[in-house]
Amino acid sequence: MINVTQPFLPPKEEYLKYIDAIWKRNWLTNMGPLASQLEMELKNYLKLKHLLFVTNGTVALQMAVKALKLKGEIITTPFSFVATTSTIVWESCTPVFVDIDSKSLCIDPKKIEEAITDKTSAILATHVYGNPCDVEAIDIIAKKHNLKVIYDAAHAFGVEVNGKSIFEYGDISTCSLHATKLYHSIEGGLIITKNSELLKKLALIRNFGISGFDSFSELGINGKNSEFHAAMGLANLKYISEIHNKRKALDEIYSEKLKNLKAVKPLWHPNANNNYAYYPIIFESEMLLLNIKSELDKQEIFTRRYFYPSLASSLPYLPKIELPITEDISKRILCLPLYYDLTFEEIELIARIMLRIQNN
Ligand SMILES: *Cc1c(COP(=O)(O)O)cnc(C)c1O
Repeated sequence: MINVTQPFLPPKEEYLKYIDAIWKRNWLTNMGPLASQLEMELKNYLKLKHLLFVTNGTVALQMAVKALKLKGEIITTPFSFVATTSTIVWESCTPVFVDIDSKSLCIDPKKIEEAITDKTSAILATHVYGNPCDVEAIDIIAKKHNLKVIYDAAHAFGVEVNGKSIFEYGDISTCSLHATKLYHSIEGGLIITKNSELLKKLALIRNFGISGFDSFSELGINGKNSEFHAAMGLANLKYISEIHNKRKALDEIYSEKLKNLKAVKPLWHPNANNNYAYYPIIFESEMLLLNIKSELDKQEIFTRRYFYPSLASSLPYLPKIELPITEDISKRILCLPLYYDLTFEEIELIARIMLRIQNN
């Protein structure tokens, strides 16, 4: 069996070294020494001034909307994981979907401007598969209309645009460190901002809004993460170059083996590196996708229709609208298995099956 993804695990002894230290200290959570160390090491690695380690990528998004005091309408993408949209609804705002760019699959900045009303407070966009949005165009629109920008950068760990971390763009960026993501702390998330006032506020929100003994300064939540999760984050961070290199090599094998497939890949941002978080392909037709997927399923090779269906036309708690590019792409896109322990032989097998079905 080949799954679409499989978590990376560090050598057990290396994780256990951290666990032994936790036992000695008996400090299990609440911004302990390992959580602080992880924040420090991630800041160094990502060359960032500020960053908070939080419960998960979803809570990070919710904290971002709360900290920026967003109200009314938030312009967002229908082509993302459900947490991007559900966060907006959870925070009592209204998502306004605009269509994506057919090449990059990120939100189309040209369509953002048409969707702005006097109720719009922000733009919440996803760097889809780690591929950066047109951050410059979004920035210009946001400044012109006095809107906040949040980037759901859940997929974008290790991506740089114009030589700096993708997490530096927007008012706030969030990342997920969930076990299925390329770099993980089992469950976990990051929240990043360049603004030190905002960072202070986010740190208070993370800890119930408690500002000192017997005092509260904010409406907060429990957004903390534990020492055990930080330990996994620290153990995994030592392998991050190996993870990137292996994924790059796997990506290259796929591209070589699948060069005759009637499918294309999303167009990557010209000034950004790829982090090889996913291997998405856009088939010529949904029919070809379904034929190939069902044969792969039979052979216990599990791919994922990611993202399908469009969030704009499938959520039971929202009015349904159909945005043509998202509807079309979401029906034709498939993510192939990609993870650290995947082998070249497995990719050859997957490619052989796919080409056989196509050429039938
Ligand atoms: C994984 C993911 C999230 C949610 O992150 P969790 O850590 O699982 O809460 C949000 N947005 C996108 C685009 C994701 O892929």
